Amino acid sequence: MKTLQYQPKHAFASNVIVFGFFLFVAQVGTYFYREVGTSPAMIMAPAGIAIAAVILEGPGVWPAIALASIANGLLNGTPLFLVFAAAAGNTLQPLAAFFFLRKAGLRRKLATVKDMFLILGTSLFLTAIVPTVNAGAIKIYNHLFQGARPAYWTSWWLSGALSALILTPFLIRWVRYPLTRRTPAKTFEIILALLALTVLSYFLFATPHVAVGGFSIIYPLMAVLLWIAFRTDSRVMTLSLLLMTAISLGGALYGNYVPAPGGLNVRIFNTQVFDFILAAIFFMLVSVEEQRKQAIEDMQDRTKKLEAALERIRQNDEAKSEFIATLAHEMRNPLATFMSSVELMLLGQGQDPAETKRLAGMMQSRIQTMKRMLDDLLDVSRVARREMEIKKEPVSLLQIVRQAVTLVESFIQSRQQAFSISMPLEDITLFADPVRIEQILVNLLTNASKYTPEKGRISLAGIREEDWLCLKVSDTGIGIPPDMIDRIFEPFVRVKHDSGMASGIGIGLALTKDLVEMHGGTVTVRSDAGGSEFTVRLPIEMPPAIGAEPAQKILPQQRLPAEGLDVVVVDDNKEAARSMGKLLSLRGHRTALLHDGHSVLDYLASARPDVILLDVGLPDLDGYEVARRIKARGNSPALVALTGYGQAEDILTAHQAGFDHHLTKPVGLAEVEEVLKQIRPPA
Ligand code: ADP
Repeated sequence: MKTLQYQPKHAFASNVIVFGFFLFVAQVGTYFYREVGTSPAMIMAPAGIAIAAVILEGPGVWPAIALASIANGLLNGTPLFLVFAAAAGNTLQPLAAFFFLRKAGLRRKLATVKDMFLILGTSLFLTAIVPTVNAGAIKIYNHLFQGARPAYWTSWWLSGALSALILTPFLIRWVRYPLTRRTPAKTFEIILALLALTVLSYFLFATPHVAVGGFSIIYPLMAVLLWIAFRTDSRVMTLSLLLMTAISLGGALYGNYVPAPGGLNVRIFNTQVFDFILAAIFFMLVSVEEQRKQAIEDMQDRTKKLEAALERIRQNDEAKSEFIATLAHEMRNPLATFMSSVELMLLGQGQDPAETKRLAGMMQSRIQTMKRMLDDLLDVSRVARREMEIKKEPVSLLQIVRQAVTLVESFIQSRQQAFSISMPLEDITLFADPVRIEQILVNLLTNASKYTPEKGRISLAGIREEDWLCLKVSDTGIGIPPDMIDRIFEPFVRVKHDSGMASGIGIGLALTKDLVEMHGGTVTVRSDAGGSEFTVRLPIEMPPAIGAEPAQKILPQQRLPAEGLDVVVVDDNKEAARSMGKLLSLRGHRTALLHDGHSVLDYLASARPDVILLDVGLPDLDGYEVARRIKARGNSPALVALTGYGQAEDILTAHQAGFDHHLTKPVGLAEVEEVLKQIRPPA
């Protein structure tokens, strides 16, 4: 909600209006009082106008207030000295009110008890400024010019306070606020209440009939005010109190009531005290009631939001349960192929090398599929736990595109789809994580192919739009139903297709969106019966200035591929150790195989390998303990942990234990090679 503003929108117009209104009301007041011959300025209506003006338009309207006050003084024939003193007081008072109310955080709606207290406080205390300045000036004037002008500090203060309490809330609630929409019944009720208030006020203040059958009219008047407080709002209340005050003061000046001792001045004073007290009480009451209504509305609003959140949780839960079933199903397919390949190999062991190679190739591709799924799953969980990190570096767009396309090309070809690529003529250097950008493209292209019938068309386009790179992946596939468009980026959400079109496990797009957003980009989708188009927008950033931290802090210096390292493979699963050893020796490394922790420590007593690949789940000593002991001896070979879990804690534990690198199982040769590349053999 807005607090008070400093600057009016149309400064000149605001000043003209404030000037005119202030002067008009001041002159009308003077006229009425002159007519009945009471002491001057018994009512300070302009005080409330000036405070409302600064609340509505800002302190920039002070010239209007000052000039109107001077003009009023001159028109009344007041001595110049007093005119300027009054102008100073009249200007200072609203400005003081503005800064106080702004600091205290007043809101124009006056819907809270706090706002009403602020207005009441301003009315009571800050309105002492004008009478104090005026009374002081009169004292000086009388002294300087031997005058005998009277000063009525208390009356001036009271009338200023009443004006601030009645006129200020009325103006700030009614000026520049759209009319509240009400039902005809409500409008009728309000008119009825105002009518009752007018009649009762009139009888009470302007006639001798102040009681009916010995029962004072004050009581029904209170009842009507209570009615207004509980059945309407602060806006109607400000109008009601203004009405009552106007009638009561008009009644005091011109009414036909039974005169009381003290004369007119005393009657006016008492009426003002009465109005002030009543206004203070009923303003409070209406704001308490309004705040209560607001609290109920807020609560209903919050309940609605909670219900919506619950519904989302229920949907997520459903999606998750479905996901588990899908995952099991999706894992079974590659596993089944894998199993049958193994069985075939066992049956025809070593007989036909070409057949063995074909079966092994099939097994490898199935394992790759499963590994990709597991990697995605791990990534999604990392993002959910905010543990995912991206390692940005300057990379060529074309290079990333080339790599991504290499990965999906054969899949697209196998579905006989036409694939086109268009990229900007000039290569773009992105400051991004190449692995993740490649993953984004692979996900979108694989989906495009998966959800497009055979012989369909798929395209990838890169467009530079100033400092943004737009990557569009379009297809002529089955499209996405409109009601699912907003949901497909949520984890585990999949569209159920009647067509039996291939489907995955529903995390690809969620991950894609996370990865894009981690790069400061956005991903959107458009889809109709003719196909879908996913647009990824990435900022083309410059790398940070020199001196920034290198992305891969934990890795030692990189170097070119090793000419062959001494590698110890430690795994209690002898099969796993043997096949890893074999792969490594095929790559030109010298390997030793060990299967428990103690034998590693013994081995190191006599040998000095370059690197140890250590499975952490060993039967005797756990891998972390082995690492700790090796490190404690000093001059340790590079240690690479192999674990089944790739969560941040596992990686952290591994590094704390002294491991230099960490790999999550299943580990392929390529990943091990990647790590070995970074290990320097002894000089
Ligand atoms: P999935 O592994 O199921 O493909 P995604 O998160 O990648 O999971 O996609 C979520 C859902 O969005 C998919 O199940 C699919 O129904 C829909 N979808 C994604 N890409 C496309 C596309 N190019 N055309 C049609 N539907 C798509």
